[in-house]
Amino acid sequence: SGNIICSLRRNLSSSSRLRSSMPAWVIDEYGNNGVLRFTEDATAPSVNSASEVLIQVHAASLNPLDISMRRGYGSNLLKLRRDPVSLGQNGGEFPIILGRDVSGVVLDCGSGVTHFKPGDEVWAAIPPWKQGSLAEMVNLTEYEVSHKPRSLSHREAASIPYVAATALSALVNAGGLCRDNCTNKRVLITGASGGVGTFSIQLLKAWGAHVTVTCSHNAEGLVRGLGADEVVDYTAGDVATELGLMEKFDVILDNVGGDSEQWALGLLKSWSGAKYVTLVTPFLLNIDSMGLLEGAVHSGLNLHQKAITNMCNGVFYRWGFYAPDGPALDEVSQLVDAGKILPVVEDTFLFSQVPLAFQKVERGHARGKTVVTVA
Ligand code: NDP
Repeated sequence: SGNIICSLRRNLSSSSRLRSSMPAWVIDEYGNNGVLRFTEDATAPSVNSASEVLIQVHAASLNPLDISMRRGYGSNLLKLRRDPVSLGQNGGEFPIILGRDVSGVVLDCGSGVTHFKPGDEVWAAIPPWKQGSLAEMVNLTEYEVSHKPRSLSHREAASIPYVAATALSALVNAGGLCRDNCTNKRVLITGASGGVGTFSIQLLKAWGAHVTVTCSHNAEGLVRGLGADEVVDYTAGDVATELGLMEKFDVILDNVGGDSEQWALGLLKSWSGAKYVTLVTPFLLNIDSMGLLEGAVHSGLNLHQKAITNMCNGVFYRWGFYAPDGPALDEVSQLVDAGKILPVVEDTFLFSQVPLAFQKVERGHARGKTVVTVA
């Protein structure tokens, strides 16, 4: 790792704009942590279209998705999205750079970019089909990028974008919540101690909702500190029974999956527009195992059947997904600078320690986010 650090210092200190290669962590095949490879010769991105923004990465963070993608999760669909003409080709997607969060500085902009200029401090959640942030530079489209909160360091800022984009998409698009309609809304968040949960608690409290969460006993202090009104320790007994004693909920955000939907749907208010939104969906798994067409059809039928069944019981059943959205991050940036949303960084690793950061996230039991400092 000494060599890696030396080469990083050398490379990161030279001008990033003009080089055709850059330091990065890549994978050349899917598998366990051993497939992560450091190289100084990854292809450096450059601005190729009017709407692109080239960013020098200062910090990145890891999400459970990085572990799954390292193993090949979603590869059928992501391969197609990266390069639609490569359909059927095996291995054409490599080398892949993982890392979905970036906080950094704009190096270059396409001629049509109006909101950013070189030197701006920005943050973004990188779509899974694009090259990631475990690299010196990343290239994004203007609408995916947002001005970073001034009050945060790059290290802190990198902990937020992907979980924020996911939580906003799930709570707003699927859950029907927004800053103007949360007063008197009761929301339940399962798996609240991780990345999405710790962000969602703070967002919903900033919007005025009443927030109940489930987590392990040793996360209670963390989630209460972030504003959770009621905390249920899922390790202490039957969580469904305990939650069943409470007033019913308007929205449930499920970060856990498994058998949650068997007991959680009954906790929603009936016939009042209440919604259950799960982030743990079989969509990409189905496409991985059945292929694109069959997997998509199977998923669609599965979702439709659950939606219809639950609609008959007076509640909505929905799947939530990450969606790239720079303007939504602008709103988060304002909440952060107003002190209403804090970064929750559990661990920070150097760029030379990326495999250790993966090991940490792979062990589970996250309490917020794991960040990697790059520059
Ligand atoms: P994290 O790994 O950061 O957090 C998960 C948290 O859940 C941990 O704190 C864990 O702690 C806790 N937990 C585990 N089991 C339970 C349980 N039975 N009840 C309550 N808490 C539990 O994940 P993220 O927050 O980043 O993401 C949450 C889920 O959403 C993941 O499955 C992720 O893959 C998915 N996701 C889906 C997206 C989409 O587009 N559909 C986008 C982003 C995330 P402990 O085990 O110690 O209790």
